[in-house]
Amino acid sequence: MLTISPIPAFNDNYIWHLKRDGQQWVVDPGDAAPVVEALGDRPLDGILITHHHPDHTGGIAALRKRYDCPVYGPASIDGVTRPMAAGDNLEVLGLPVEVIDVPGHTLDHLALVLRETDSGSANGIHLFCGDTLFAAGCGRLFEGTPAQMYASLGKLSALPPETRVYCAHEYTLANLKFAAAAEPGNNAIDNRIAEVEAMRADKRPSLPSTIGEELATNPFLRCHVPAVARRAAERAGKENTDEVEVFASLRRWKDNF
Ligand SMILES: [Zn+2]
Repeated sequence: MLTISPIPAFNDNYIWHLKRDGQQWVVDPGDAAPVVEALGDRPLDGILITHHHPDHTGGIAALRKRYDCPVYGPASIDGVTRPMAAGDNLEVLGLPVEVIDVPGHTLDHLALVLRETDSGSANGIHLFCGDTLFAAGCGRLFEGTPAQMYASLGKLSALPPETRVYCAHEYTLANLKFAAAAEPGNNAIDNRIAEVEAMRADKRPSLPSTIGEELATNPFLRCHVPAVARRAAERAGKENTDEVEVFASLRRWKDNF
């Protein structure tokens, strides 16, 4: 059986810890110490990396030294031993993983879709999206253009609605407050705020999310909705219904929210 759990790191990062049949992998280990602690007596069998930012890669060297495991990630990153690119199909913990390129937050950003072929359930698709898609939000545009990021988010939102979404940060509540400002009157957003407030009050992670929840509450996936486009136009001071323009206006607004 596959289990996926978050290892908290730094202020608000999650390093995702995958276990199956006694094997263990992690995604985006920005720090080695909490990973070593979470692994217990068993070794680390592999590392997956989504993009080059230090809070996702900082633990690679120490973990490699200790466990000598393969590191799959974008080719340009120090410490990556198995470069990956869009369209690659890997096997992780005996399960198929598809690699998708999602430039925008950074140009090297990859997302990983793991299919749990033996679960027989609708919950068997797992998306590791790094800093591209967040619960009710998306990553900042450090390197890519709005058009690139919007296309990347489109690839992720086209996954089946039951796909579980494992983002790399606990940003959900702040993102939902922005979502409520970007689309007042969307009851799904108000309901999700209440749910996530209860989770956080209990110190539980708000993740994973699902693609279905994101389609209903994430303003960056709702640029086609007239009410969202209208609010973005008000903020930008110009009417625009082009989805990439709506996305760009929302992203600029969120940067200063
Ligand atoms: Zn990042």
